[in-house]
Amino acid sequence: MSAIQGEPSLEFQGSKVELCPTFEKMGLRDELLRGIFAYDFKKPSAIQQRAIAPIITGRDVIAQAQSGTGKTATFSIGVLQLVDTSVRETQALILSPTRELAQQIQKVCLSLGSYMSVGVRGVVGGKSVGEDIRALEQGVQVVSGTPGRVFDMISRNVLRTRNIKMLVLDEADEMLNQGFKEQIYDIYRFLPPATQIVVVSATLTQDVLDMTRKFMTDPIRILVKRDELTLEGIKQFFVAVEKEEWKFDTLCDLYDTLVITQAVIFCNTKRKVDWLTDKMRKSNFTVSSMHGEMPQKEREQIMEQFRNAETRVLITTDLWARGIDVQQVSLVINYDLPNNRELYIHRIGRSGRFGRKGVAINFVKSDDIKILRDIEQFYATQIDEMPVSVTDLMS
Ligand code: ADP
Ligand code: MG
Repeated sequence: MSAIQGEPSLEFQGSKVELCPTFEKMGLRDELLRGIFAYDFKKPSAIQQRAIAPIITGRDVIAQAQSGTGKTATFSIGVLQLVDTSVRETQALILSPTRELAQQIQKVCLSLGSYMSVGVRGVVGGKSVGEDIRALEQGVQVVSGTPGRVFDMISRNVLRTRNIKMLVLDEADEMLNQGFKEQIYDIYRFLPPATQIVVVSATLTQDVLDMTRKFMTDPIRILVKRDELTLEGIKQFFVAVEKEEWKFDTLCDLYDTLVITQAVIFCNTKRKVDWLTDKMRKSNFTVSSMHGEMPQKEREQIMEQFRNAETRVLITTDLWARGIDVQQVSLVINYDLPNNRELYIHRIGRSGRFGRKGVAINFVKSDDIKILRDIEQFYATQIDEMPVSVTDLMS
């Protein structure tokens, strides 16, 4: 399926920052620049043009940008420019909310740093503790991990923090949420006082911005107004289903559309994911599914198959809502509406990566309509009733 490359012009607000229109002009080390071009990045995206330079100068940075616009490379390039590869100690720590995302970020760092002989370790739950210990004792310059395992490694003193110069919180609003806040603080207390802090997300609420005052010093703030957060390239629709029971048939009717490309279907609970997967399979539809209660091995296998497009339809929970980048995904279905406005932005942002086109379809019961209208109004976007054919909107 042909993808329209590039990205829309994006408007930012916050601190006055200069635009750096090319990677060459960023003053990056040669071997990093080589890695960037070898990764086939030609030109920095809007957020990369704005945020890489301030990160490199050592400033604390709050970087908000629409989903799929290249935030990972923004902080990864910052991290890779900073590390001293002759020192085999952890110098940058990147934290994210899910194992899959932490591993994805690790791979991006390794790719961009492929000419640098830099050690980047994914340190996530569900994997062998012994292997993490061995790798960290050997010394790696960059750690991309999830908070629980990272804290465990710090507590065991195998992840030594004294050379850490930068902490990155990807999906920062989620990381500073009730579920993670304490864990992040526990890790933060082990970091040298001068540690540079970079926080990144597509969604940063005022609450989160207020919270950053407590642990960031005079940060550069690159922010997006909420009415500019949805992407033009992602068309949003709803299907009125009246009752819960109608959702299933609606999904079956859409199946032919789903498999034209790759699609992600969101349910609100693990049980519902299991139930829907089972029911689809019993009706002879091929689907894959994943959620946080599956063994890590299985999660990794399902991710890999989906990334390789060996599977095309994935039924999942909000485990998948944030950060996961599979460029071929061009359709997102909210079988259940998400529980908050931020999740809506993240979920639909699994499609339409880096300027590609995408379609999001929301299944709404009668009493869901007002929730959807609230989302529509909040982001000043448009969610119409689904037309007969949506396939031509996906390429
Ligand atoms: P975000 O974190 O902002 O949601 P990602 O960092 O996951 O987005 O990037 C989305 C996609 O865009 C990835 O597949 C990435 O490889 C690609 N990408 C990022 N920056 C560039 C660039 N400068 N040129 C081309 N593709 C890019
Ligand atoms: Mg991201």
